[in-house]
This record gives sequence, structure tokens and C-alpha cells, in this order.
Amino acid sequence: MPELPVVRTVSELRAAIAAWRADGLTLALVPTMGALHEGHLALVRRGLERAERVCVTLFVNPTQFAPHEDFDCYPRDEAGDAAKLANAGAHLLFVPDAAEMYPAGEVTRVTVPSLGEVLEGQFRPQFFTGVATVVTKLLLQALPDVAIFGEKDYQQLRVIRRMVTDLFIPVAIDGAPTVREADGLALSSRNAYLSPAERAIAPRLQQALQAFAGQIRADAAAAKRAADVEQLLRDAGFSKVDYVRVCEAATLQPWPGPPAAGRILAAAWLGRTRLIDNIPL
Ligand code: AMP
Repeated sequence: MPELPVVRTVSELRAAIAAWRADGLTLALVPTMGALHEGHLALVRRGLERAERVCVTLFVNPTQFAPHEDFDCYPRDEAGDAAKLANAGAHLLFVPDAAEMYPAGEVTRVTVPSLGEVLEGQFRPQFFTGVATVVTKLLLQALPDVAIFGEKDYQQLRVIRRMVTDLFIPVAIDGAPTVREADGLALSSRNAYLSPAERAIAPRLQQALQAFAGQIRADAAAAKRAADVEQLLRDAGFSKVDYVRVCEAATLQPWPGPPAAGRILAAAWLGRTRLIDNIPL
């Protein structure tokens, strides 16, 4: 098994990166919350194509969880994650604890209005401020050439692109395609929560979005029928549907129709598990 160095403090992280920089090496950063699956490893492989060194971060970020959400039971497996990353060819794993990322007395938050307030932001009001804050910290701690994020979390990718542009953070943001199971279900650490019966229903989310995208491509007027897709998901067994929305890809505002690039985004519950997915138009 190849060796994967693990660092836990910002000063150790910066020392490791400074040594690479002294050798003229480029760096890709892959932020994660762990419980790694093939989707995360695809980001690492993409990082290896874009830079000479890949640093993965593993931090279950408390500020993006609301008190009633799954922070305490979020799956954690640092040893398993480190083994997968070593095999995938990552060069460094940064595993800070909460006090390292949020030292006593810290108060500063990064908020991305508008883009961060719609869709997920409506249902998880704290979420994108938590994400934007922790990603800003990670980018400034590591100052990589490029940071890689998944299109699986499409709104997150858009929020991060906006934030990096607005704050002049000198890091390129790269979006990677969603990795899926054979039946279409997007890989997610939270899929581990699904019972066998829920797992059987879960791929219907992507299937419904694919069918809806096909209808809209055939006739843009079909974009008005998102409520029908929400009902279809309830009929398929989803216990609650937070939203199915047809959005303008860049702004996440309602899609004005062609030629604007569109994206369908959705969030739905199977019991206590919340799934999100999206598809380009
Ligand atoms: P997470 O650990 O869930 O916060 O995700 C860390 C990164 O992996 C984020 O950039 C996600 O968008 C990305 N990611 C999660 N699931 C997938 C997937 N199925 N395919 C591609 N990227 C993913």
C-alpha cells in the first residue's frame, strides 16, 4: 500500500505544501467530508490530471449543519478513507479538528446572497454560509492552483465559483461530473442511511429528472410542469419532496427558456434520508 501522509494542523499543512512549492510543483485541493466513495476518488483522479500534487481534506464541517441535522451521526471512517486515497494516488490528507478550523474567538462568516439563498438555501438556511466559510478557509490555508468540486452538488459548485470570483481568491475552480451507480443513483455518503426498500426507490429521482429533461428538450413549455414531477416522486414512494426546479444554470433563477443554459435541480426525502440530484438541460 502506498503511503499517505496525514497532517492535522494548518502549520503542518502549509509546511508540506511549501516544500512542494519550493520544488516548483503544482497543487490540486479536493475538499471532502469523508466517508469516501468512487465519486470522491474521481475528484482525486481529476486532480492528478490537473496538478502534480493532490491534497485531500477531510472535515465534517459543523457550521453547515443545522441542530436537527445529521452532524453527530454523519458517517466517519478516517482509516478507510486514508487507505482509499493512498490507492487512488493522493499525496496528502489534511484532517483538522473543529478547534483548528474554528479557533476560540473566531466569528467571521462568508455569505453568498441570492445564489446561496434559493433551492437548498430555502430548506437549509445555514448551509451555504457554512460551506462558503469553510471552503474559504481551506482555500486560503492551502492556496492550491486548482480546487475540485463535484457537479453532484451543483448549487454548491455555483456558490463556490461566485465566492472565489467575488473575493479574488487566486484558485481555479474545477467542476467534475457526477459518478453514479449502474441504476442512475448518484453516489453519496448519505446513501449508507437507506434501507433496502428505500434504496430500491432512490434511482427514481434521477430517472424522473432524465424524463423531465427529455420533455423540456422536446418542448420548452414542459418546464412549467415541475409540480407534476414532484407528484410523480411522491407516487414512487418518496416521503417528501422539497423541490424540483428548472433553473438557469448560471444564476439558479427560474429558467427563462432557450437559448439560456438550463439545469433541473431536485431534493427529496426517503424516510430520514435527504437525496439531492440535478441534470443539465
Ligand atoms: P462531500 O464529502 O459529500 O461533502 O463531497 C465532497 C466533494 O465530493 C464535493 O465536491 C461533492 O460535490 C463531491 N461529490 C460527492 N458525491 C459525488 C459524486 N457522486 N460524483 C462526483 N462528485 C461527488
